[in-house]
Amino acid sequence: MATFKDIYKYIKKYNNIVIARHLRVDPDAQASSLALKELILNTFNNKNVYAVGISASKFKYMGALNKLPEDLSNTLLIVLDTPDLKRVDIDCEINSFSYTIKIDHHPFVEEFCDLEYIDDDASSTCEIILDMAYETKMKLNEESAKLLFQGIVSDTNRFTTINTTAKTFNLVHKLINDTKINFVSLYNDLYRRPLTEVRIQGYIAQNMTVTENGLGYIKIDDDIIKEFGVDAASPGNMINNFNYIDEIMAWAFVSHDVKNDIYRITIRSRGPIINSVASNYNGGGHQLASGARVKTMEEVDSLLEDLDFECKKFRGEEDENKQC
Ligand code: AMP
Repeated sequence: MATFKDIYKYIKKYNNIVIARHLRVDPDAQASSLALKELILNTFNNKNVYAVGISASKFKYMGALNKLPEDLSNTLLIVLDTPDLKRVDIDCEINSFSYTIKIDHHPFVEEFCDLEYIDDDASSTCEIILDMAYETKMKLNEESAKLLFQGIVSDTNRFTTINTTAKTFNLVHKLINDTKINFVSLYNDLYRRPLTEVRIQGYIAQNMTVTENGLGYIKIDDDIIKEFGVDAASPGNMINNFNYIDEIMAWAFVSHDVKNDIYRITIRSRGPIINSVASNYNGGGHQLASGARVKTMEEVDSLLEDLDFECKKFRGEEDENKQC
């Protein structure tokens, strides 16, 4: 596997660098892209660095994205937080670049870059970028430190996910100690939301189906999205708020992407392994945090059945362990 030193060597070598991340951007993907750009600009003089992708107004507070440059010859591409080529949010062929590097914390899906650094024990891509900054000569500044902190806090759901380790805390401790960022003020940007979102969260809690095996799910109609006046992506953004509910081991929100006429399913779990199910439905992700996209309601129902089966299996294993 690639080392941080290898990655640093290529960053040093190329004057033109494009940084891309996955489609349907989340805070870790966005923050790691912009933080890496900031780190490179703060460490080297005279480099052209472009953080690209479809921008989301929700994450504007992190900083602006760039247009992909027209001339990609002699350009290095660094893909962050994306395990497979189909999910890279970039408007050109990946082989248009002179050299490509992947840095990711998802379970391995496919090799598509010249150099790949994958650490699926890391809590987030921001944690890997922070680790790399400390292991190489990259210079942290206030801006990159704030972004990295926000990405780590978001992807670990405030240090609660299974990939949160002593290393995560050590790196964050060092980051705060060295840069003296006012981290409390950063939660405002990450967690503030309109009342309409809180109201639809109440609707979801009231109307979610919970199976006897511990699967919670809801299919959110376009009419409901309109009635509450929220963005179609809103229910997916609040999925983590449904953790730690006694009756629920895994939970899924289904929404209809009208423009592309597909169903998006956002899934979380606090035990049953869900990414193996999601990967059978044009999806993937982490063991306990996954997503999928399907074309028909029949496929949605089949996915929900498979998730319910995983919950049943998990409950059975838990009962067996209790008896031992
Ligand atoms: P989300 O539910 O969008 O927060 O995504 C949770 C995790 O699943 C993230 O690691 C995503 O990268 C991954 N994921 C979501 N949707 C898909 C998909 N259609 N294909 C592969 N991975 C996905």
